[in-house]
Amino acid sequence: MALIKDTAIVLRRLDYSETSQVLVLLTREHGQLRIIAKGIKRSTRNRAAVGIDLLERGRIVFSLRSGKEDGLATLTEWHQEDNYAHLQRSLPRCYAAQYSAEVTSQLTEVLDPHPMLFDGLHRLLDALADEDVLVCLVDYLWLMLKEIGLQPELSRCVSCNGDVAGEPVLHFSSRQGGVICRDCEPAMVEKRRMRSEVAQGLVSGKREDDPAAFDLLDYHLREIMFRPAKLSSPLRAALKIKA
Ligand SMILES: [Zn+2]
Repeated sequence: MALIKDTAIVLRRLDYSETSQVLVLLTREHGQLRIIAKGIKRSTRNRAAVGIDLLERGRIVFSLRSGKEDGLATLTEWHQEDNYAHLQRSLPRCYAAQYSAEVTSQLTEVLDPHPMLFDGLHRLLDALADEDVLVCLVDYLWLMLKEIGLQPELSRCVSCNGDVAGEPVLHFSSRQGGVICRDCEPAMVEKRRMRSEVAQGLVSGKREDDPAAFDLLDYHLREIMFRPAKLSSPLRAALKIKA
């Protein structure tokens, strides 16, 4: 079995046995990876048994049985590069990181590489040290939606392709994949109102400390996943965003 090297961030950790862990990783070159770390929690004379924690980044070496590409990879080496200790000092920052990990693990596929997404998550976890939480969270979610092919169209009506510039209040439909103009809106069942500045801010990349952009993306992700993210309500409470 060939040994493969990569860099990874831990999206989920599941306790597997007294001494082993099963992890869901986002790797830079191989996309999502489900991996077993055998004996990782076994203490040695020089090392306490701690295992690998959620949202740590490390260099990994792993093996993958050929013909079992959807199965569990085996972790043979882990060298921690960062544990983003700053996340532990602020609840909103910690929840923002965990929310991002959760939706990334839900919406990416095993062995489908997205190096830009990995770099974006890495950047988010760094930025959560001191940058505005909503700004860097929205940046990451917008990038993630682009990478997985579900970024909504916010410049033109997705129903009639009409220009929506100049309309102060727009409607957004997750199932239709974007913004709906005033004329098409009455025919749509699944929709919500949005201010046009929110659409402009997302499209132009001019981020502001505005909960409405996150609120819209959280709604879109809920529709895509058919349920809210588990971290959605604690994160919204920590950021004081009303449901
Ligand atoms: Zn229209």
